[in-house]
Amino acid sequence: MRKIIAFFTAAVLAVFMIPTFIPAVSSLFSRDDVQIADENTGAITAGSFDKPFTVSVYRCDLNTVESHDFEEYITGVLAGEMPPTYNIEALSAQAVAARSYILSKAEAYFNGQIPEEHHGAMICTNPNHCKAWRDLTAAKASWDVRYANDYEDKIRSAVKRTEGEYMTYKGEVVKAYFYAMSSGRTENVEDVWGTALPYLRSVDSREDAMSDGFESLSTFDLSSLCSRLKAARQDFSMSDASDFEEKPERTDGGSVVKIKIGNTEFKGSELREILGLRSANFTVTSDGDKLTFKVKGYGHGVGMSQNGANVLAERGMKYREILSHYYTDVNIVNLYKKL
Ligand SMILES: [Zn+2]
Repeated sequence: MRKIIAFFTAAVLAVFMIPTFIPAVSSLFSRDDVQIADENTGAITAGSFDKPFTVSVYRCDLNTVESHDFEEYITGVLAGEMPPTYNIEALSAQAVAARSYILSKAEAYFNGQIPEEHHGAMICTNPNHCKAWRDLTAAKASWDVRYANDYEDKIRSAVKRTEGEYMTYKGEVVKAYFYAMSSGRTENVEDVWGTALPYLRSVDSREDAMSDGFESLSTFDLSSLCSRLKAARQDFSMSDASDFEEKPERTDGGSVVKIKIGNTEFKGSELREILGLRSANFTVTSDGDKLTFKVKGYGHGVGMSQNGANVLAERGMKYREILSHYYTDVNIVNLYKKL
C-alpha cells in the first residue's frame, strides 16, 4: 500500500512539476528545438539539433542582436577569418574549425553563462572574444569585383559541403583554435594559456616557413623600447641595448617562454603584446642603440595554421586530413538530426 501511495505522490508531483520546469528551460535558451545532452553543463551532442538552427549574434559594429541560421553565420565567419583566395579544402577545414570553436562557446550559453559582452546573445562578432564575422554582402563589396562572385560561391560551397560538421574529442566539442601562420611548429595549448588539452598538441607545420610573410622584423631604439616596457612594468630599467638574455627558454613550438630584458623578466606572450610583435617566437639582436626582434609566424600558434592549411590543400590534402593534422585524435561529427 505504501508503495502505491508513494507512486501516486511521485506521479502527481511529476505532472505538476514538469510543465513549470520545461517553460523555464526553454525561455532560458529561447530555443525549443535545441537538444542539450546535459542541462547542468550545456554539453552539446552530435546529431541532436533540428535544422535550421538559429543563433543570436551580438553585432559589435552596430550594437544590435541579430538572428542568423547557424550555417549562414558560418559563411560570415569564413568571410571574416580567412582570405577567399584560399583553396576550397582550406576553407572547408576552416568551416569545420569555426563551427567547433563557436559550439564550444555556445555550451557556456546553454549552461546559462552569458558573457556580459554578448548583451544576451549566444555569440558576438568581436574577433578577440568569439570570432570575426562579416556580412557576406559587405565582404563581397570589398573584394575584387572580377572575382567576388567566385569567392562567394567558394565560401558558400565550403560551408555547404561540410554542413553541420564539427569536431569532438571523446564526445566533447573541440575548442578549435586557429590563427594566421605558425612559426614552423604549432604550440601546445598549455604553453600559451596554461591548461593542457589532449587535442591541442605541438605539431609540425613547416609549410609556413616557406611562405611569404613568415619572418617579420620589428626594430626599436633603446629609448622607445624602454618607455614601452616601463609603461607595462614601472620598475623596468636596462643599461644598454645589449642588456638582454640571449638564449631564453622556449616551448616545444619554439616560442619564448620568458626572457630577461634589463632588470625584468617578461613572458614571451607578454612581450609580444607590449611590443605588437606578430608572434611570441622571436630572437633579439642589438646594433648600437637599436634592438631588433626577428619574429616567425603570425598569431598565438595553437591549433590550425590557416596559411599551413592552405599550403597543404594546394598540395592535394583534403579538409578532413588537414583537420586531423592540426587537431590530434579528433572525430568529425554532425550537429544535425538525420532526416
Ligand atoms: Zn563573444
